[in-house]
Amino acid sequence: MYQSQRDRNRAAGIGMTSERTRRRLIDQVREMGVTDRRVLDVMFSLPRHLFIDEALSNRAYDNISLPIGYGQTISQPYIVGLMTQTLFNQARPKILEIGTGCGYQTAVLAPLCEEVISIERILKLHRRARDLLYDLRIRNVKFRHGDGFMGMVDLAPFDGILAAAVSEDIPEELVVQLVDGGRIVMPVGRGDQQVLLIADKTSTGLKKKEIEAVRFVPRLAGLG
Ligand code: SAH
Repeated sequence: MYQSQRDRNRAAGIGMTSERTRRRLIDQVREMGVTDRRVLDVMFSLPRHLFIDEALSNRAYDNISLPIGYGQTISQPYIVGLMTQTLFNQARPKILEIGTGCGYQTAVLAPLCEEVISIERILKLHRRARDLLYDLRIRNVKFRHGDGFMGMVDLAPFDGILAAAVSEDIPEELVVQLVDGGRIVMPVGRGDQQVLLIADKTSTGLKKKEIEAVRFVPRLAGLG
């Protein structure tokens, strides 16, 4: 499957999926509250069908999360848009992303900043996303295999941090790797009691704000 997926990436242009299909998805995402033009434009331009298995590609432009193997999922487009617009309420050149997954969120972040450092704990997902974004000519991403919730000390500090796996709280390791004025967007909670949180780092500490109830896969320990 792996090799044919790469062949498919190379062969497939954006034109493979009709503009109408992609437009419908973007309209839905906007109606749900993602209004940032830059975010919508990037999402419109991305071939989401290349990020998922071919067997599911007829659902690639539905506003839903889908399985990507290894018990993980590609996030719902609305959630990707919401998190991205929340992170880029101001310019944030250097972003840490936790949970690369299939790389779709990474590909949305990359054109909107100078550099993304994206960490994934499942080796095969890490490699697949790295190869796909290379084929899509996205070059300002450093992919790392590891536990993202430890951050990446040698590449810190970050202007923004986005996590796609839920944690019980915001790890202190991440807070210390954030610049003053930096922002974390991540789900916190457990089970089905999860909320998407904004945490802004100020001189007096973290200022937290809840956005909305969400459903993410749990943070995994160790390396897969
Ligand atoms: N934005 C991704 C979401 C993938 S789901 C996408 O759209 O594809 C969340 C991802 O977080 C999974 O791939 C999972 O393997 C990864 N993950 C879970 N715990 C992690 C950890 N501690 N460090 C890095 N990645 C982690």
